[in-house]
Amino acid sequence: MMVGLNQNLVKIETSKAFTPLERQVIGMMHHLVYGEGDSFYKKWMHSANHSLGAFCSGGTIANITALWIARNRLLKAEGDFKGVAKEGLFRAMKYYGYEGLAILVSERGHYSLGKAADILGIGREFLVPVKTDANNKVQSAEMRRISRELNDKNIKVMAIVGVAGTTETGNVDPLNDLADLAAELGCHFHVDAAWGGATLLSDKYRHLLKGIERADSVTIDAHKQMYVPMGAGMVVFKHPSSAHAIEHHAEYILRKGSKDLGSQTLEGSRLVWQCWCMLACR
Ligand SMILES: *Cc1c(COP(=O)(O)O)cnc(C)c1O
Repeated sequence: MMVGLNQNLVKIETSKAFTPLERQVIGMMHHLVYGEGDSFYKKWMHSANHSLGAFCSGGTIANITALWIARNRLLKAEGDFKGVAKEGLFRAMKYYGYEGLAILVSERGHYSLGKAADILGIGREFLVPVKTDANNKVQSAEMRRISRELNDKNIKVMAIVGVAGTTETGNVDPLNDLADLAAELGCHFHVDAAWGGATLLSDKYRHLLKGIERADSVTIDAHKQMYVPMGAGMVVFKHPSSAHAIEHHAEYILRKGSKDLGSQTLEGSRLVWQCWCMLACR
């Protein structure tokens, strides 16, 4: 039936039933990470101009989406500068007076972050790998030291990425320490829980990810430890208005004020497969 209907989640007219269902599933995942109360979800889950997250084809797109938001929020419109989304990185650096941007992550960070640094114009050399301890957890003191070094060179730390569980070893970074550092630096805090995010479903083990609720954005892959068919990536945002930084409209398809999911996602046409599978699993 689903193949026959061939619905497209990019906009509401091509997916009348699944647009609210996907918002519902994203709301469930947001609750799993951030545990907000009923009134929060009543207010934001189905709000046309807000987004608690997005489904996407995988953790790669989820990570890119999160860091795209981080970049655009940092280099926002101000005074006569129209923002990086409109004027590009070159003018943004001139306007804000930075020599460059950097993203800090454990040396066990996933390679998809390198792609993000590349396509967002940050440069792969500025995705700075930070040493881990004997347990493969990032050393937050070392991260703080590197951030100071970068700051002295006038390179702005755009985001800190915590890994909750590394793909190779399964270890979780000290998320609370990283959240503290991100607050100190005034930068975006992203948690890549593509592989380990499913741990939040376990009452026994969810404490391993403590601090994740302080992240501005979190990546979770349902096609990994949630055993949903490929490709079911997700990114959730702490703040319902974060995705305004990447919002786009097109008269013929993504009208302002509509519930079109595609106005706040990197991907365009999208199938309804993932959110259907997650509901079915539940
Ligand atoms: C798998 C994985 C990704 C990338 O996800 P894809 O679904 O393959 O795009 C990103 N980060 C981590 C930690 C992963 O394990």
